Amino acid sequence: MLGDSAHLDTGLGGQSGSSEIISGDPQYSGNAQAASSGGAEGLCANDLQFQGGADHPLDDPASLNPSSLDIPPGDVEDLWLQDTIHLGDLQTAADFVKELQGATLDDPSLGMSDEALHRLRNPLCDQPPTAIDNVTRLAIDLYIGTPSEVTYETVRRAILRFLPDLQLPSYYKVKRSVADLTGVESVVHDMCVKSCIAYTGPFLDLDSCPKCSEPRYDQFRLQTSSGQEKIPRQEFHTIPIGPQLQALYRSPESASCAHYLCNKVHRMSEDLEHADCLDEYSDVLHGTDLIGAFQDGRICEDDIVLMFSIDGAQLYAKKVLSCWIYIWVLLNLSPTERYKKHRVFVGSFIPGPNNPKNIDSFLFPGLQHLVALQKEGLQIWDAALQREVNSKVFLALITTDGPGMMHITGMVGYHGKHGCRLYCGMQGRCEQHGKHYFPALLKPLDYDVEDCMHDDIDVRRLPIPSYEKYHENLHLVTTSPNQRQYRARRLETGILKPSIFSGLDRSATLGLPHSAGSDIMHLAALNLPDLMLSLWHSTIDCTRPDDRSTWDWAVLQGDVWQTHGQAVASALHYLPTSFDCPPRNIADKITSGYKAWEFLLYLYGLGPGLLYGILPQRYFTNYCKLVLGIQLMNQHRITQENLCNAHLALLSFTEEFEDVYCQCMQTRIHFVCPCMHSLVHLLREVLRIGPPICSSQWTLECTISNLGKKIKQHSNPFANLSQRGIRCACVNALIAIIPDLEGNQNSGGDLPCGSKDIEDGFVLLRARDKHPECLWECKVDALNKFLSTSNTGRVAVRRWARLRIPTGQVCYSAWKELQRPLEKR
Ligand SMILES: [Zn+2]
Ligand SMILES: [Zn+2]
Repeated sequence: MLGDSAHLDTGLGGQSGSSEIISGDPQYSGNAQAASSGGAEGLCANDLQFQGGADHPLDDPASLNPSSLDIPPGDVEDLWLQDTIHLGDLQTAADFVKELQGATLDDPSLGMSDEALHRLRNPLCDQPPTAIDNVTRLAIDLYIGTPSEVTYETVRRAILRFLPDLQLPSYYKVKRSVADLTGVESVVHDMCVKSCIAYTGPFLDLDSCPKCSEPRYDQFRLQTSSGQEKIPRQEFHTIPIGPQLQALYRSPESASCAHYLCNKVHRMSEDLEHADCLDEYSDVLHGTDLIGAFQDGRICEDDIVLMFSIDGAQLYAKKVLSCWIYIWVLLNLSPTERYKKHRVFVGSFIPGPNNPKNIDSFLFPGLQHLVALQKEGLQIWDAALQREVNSKVFLALITTDGPGMMHITGMVGYHGKHGCRLYCGMQGRCEQHGKHYFPALLKPLDYDVEDCMHDDIDVRRLPIPSYEKYHENLHLVTTSPNQRQYRARRLETGILKPSIFSGLDRSATLGLPHSAGSDIMHLAALNLPDLMLSLWHSTIDCTRPDDRSTWDWAVLQGDVWQTHGQAVASALHYLPTSFDCPPRNIADKITSGYKAWEFLLYLYGLGPGLLYGILPQRYFTNYCKLVLGIQLMNQHRITQENLCNAHLALLSFTEEFEDVYCQCMQTRIHFVCPCMHSLVHLLREVLRIGPPICSSQWTLECTISNLGKKIKQHSNPFANLSQRGIRCACVNALIAIIPDLEGNQNSGGDLPCGSKDIEDGFVLLRARDKHPECLWECKVDALNKFLSTSNTGRVAVRRWARLRIPTGQVCYSAWKELQRPLEKR
């Protein structure tokens, strides 16, 4: 597909943009249009010269030390203390921030037991494999290896029949010892039975829900006990991050894995001393934001760096039962390690059936714990260093999808006038009589909509998201004297309310809007496919007097659509097996749970082949630019050259998209979905926080799907999910403490039965010929020629069906595959 760059009319193929950009050359002119408008330096050069440019703040660390990260006067730091907030909801949001700022570990509302608190401050330093006896180890193996209490007890009974004297503990007891061993347990808080709010922070002492008035406690029990028995009608669990982190550092193996970040940063600063810039971006720490935090001392050697990720999840495909889950990802681990399911830290589950009306109240316990740790420092026994360290817990990034971001960051969301989640300030346009704003660059012809009359926007000159501007505006919105003013200020600033994350100490986070990451999973695998298919398949709204019959791009209809769907399904046999689940027939399945992964393979893998000759040329060319850009941006390692090419392709795609599809018609403004705007930010995001894939929502999606699969008890799925999550957190902590348990967990460590390790990462896998077969002389000759050998006489070979290569992918040989019918391969 990359070969398709030849189709691009941006001249991508021939130019060597990367070296030019890095030297900060304002003549950077891979794109003819950019050069002629002289606008390229507006975005690219400034950004890309960050490592070499003399006047960049990072070259002068003193300018970035915490005390000089100054917030303009009249800003939020004192906002929470003043009597300047007049509106109820804003006051509530500010109260959460204020309470969060005051968090301490000793606060009983945190819900930690005295014992857990003691352990948090005095981490265990023994190495459990030597400290646990064989029977306990057997019980733990069983606990991890069996899916439920029932199975555990069945197996236990069987073992005890064979060895009646064995003191094998019950499920309850082993669960208790796992909690003791790891220190990982959940804290429980009450919540509204309709999931509006949690009784935390300012809601801690309420007896009924402030949103729906449902009582907090079981009224029957309360009345029959004359108000003594307060049984909450619904609860939710939070698993504090501190003990989970402590567990990870308790074995030398996992602790040294966690030294990755620090080692890497040391090496990187050495590299940067000898070179102007990094050759490639392959991790979050390659971005300027983390480099900056290290340079100015906000992150030090022993510190913990986290990413927070939250999303709503639907528990069953066919039932509307939603819940919210958040996780923590430890950036101290290497990219190959940190996203694995046993390395991800589960944070909390917010049960449905409805979406929370105040999500802050549900995040509060987890963040309260985090803020308290940030103040006090987390005591960790580092088994690799064999000493205790006091770590600051730095929250680098917050990731979620578009609608989630609105709840988390308190910004108006993607259909607001200033809907950019990165807070660049670009203004959207409305259709006539429309309520939603769209990030359309070009002003339509004959267009007259109040407030949207700004000129065409040059995508190369977008404003840079600013921490100062955000806080200034937040101050303005939060202090609105009345509803009318509030609505006006909300519209003009794009800010809805203070984010609960404003309660974090500025020196312990990148801070909003910088901590809000771009999410390439939703962008590339859901939003863009949705947009492009709704155009080609003609399911996007048509605003009159626009007429669908003039949409010459809407070719995926009727028989063409059906045939196309079949072609997608038939491609199954030509995709490598490592591609997980290959896309199904898109014509049949698009409305019934076509998965993100399928969309990804469809749009950026199969699409360019299958749509060639179907999509009219100019739409096809436009589409290929998107494919090129996303393929490059979706890589784990993005070279400087890749980055330039991807950026040019994506800019060209977005500009041309408005030309070819919208054609300056005001009835087509809604084609320019918010995802189009996110594309133009990708370059800056890579420079700032590394490859988008490193901070994407894939990790959370996988966690949700893993936990979802484990729901066994369908009568109370939410409670069951919480229990599964807590168990998962404990098991992960156990695996960190006792690394050889991991082998039991996925039995992937050992070679499969009958396989043969032929070294250098290659393994032959069964089936194989029972007996070596003697080759004819001509075959021996051919083999000699191929292998450059000179075997003579009798040569016998034995065929194998499969070969595992160093990447973990499995290749299949024609010998066995050809014996099977095509649809079974
Ligand atoms: Zn309620
Ligand atoms: Zn923006």
